Amino acid sequence: MIRPFIIFCKLNQITFSDFYWFHQENHALSRTDGSCTVCRARMSMESFASYRRYLVELEDGEPVTHTVTVQRCRCGSCGHTHALLPTTLVPYSSYSLRFILSVLRAYFLRTDTVAGICERVGIAISTLYRWKKLFLTHKQLWLGVLEAMHRDHCSFLDQLDGVALKSHYLAFRVSFLQSFRRTVREQPFSGAGQLFVST
Ligand SMILES: [Zn+2]
Repeated sequence: MIRPFIIFCKLNQITFSDFYWFHQENHALSRTDGSCTVCRARMSMESFASYRRYLVELEDGEPVTHTVTVQRCRCGSCGHTHALLPTTLVPYSSYSLRFILSVLRAYFLRTDTVAGICERVGIAISTLYRWKKLFLTHKQLWLGVLEAMHRDHCSFLDQLDGVALKSHYLAFRVSFLQSFRRTVREQPFSGAGQLFVST
């Protein structure tokens, strides 16, 4: 996959919706000649296909589900295909990055019971704990064991910006909060006649 990371401010300072953010970056990607992440060839991408998937975001604290179109391109050098994945999407998850971070923030701040948080945003309790586990794993991977132990979870969340997300992706070749396990709820969009792709 290819990720643009064109938004550099802190995520909690973004005032527009995830749906708008997706389209802003998607538009930028369509005009970008990215490098192939497999063979490193530059200016080698050609349009290949697209697929539909869900994007679930929080609007005024309520979950809202959109369907969005993700572009795929093919490297003319090595032939690999790549999803062009805007930053607001977490690979293999229907929930937006800010949706997940908002839920984790509410959990760490104890704004409600775990059951109350999950009921409000429409997720299973097991999903919240899976996100928490991923968050703690990635935070430790990012900061190292000692710093992660002493860095407050919410201050870490509040410092996340596009630069940090890009650094994480380049350093570990995995997006922040990306899981390779998919739940039934998080399967890609299954509309009739659509091309199914796993990112
Ligand atoms: Zn290539």
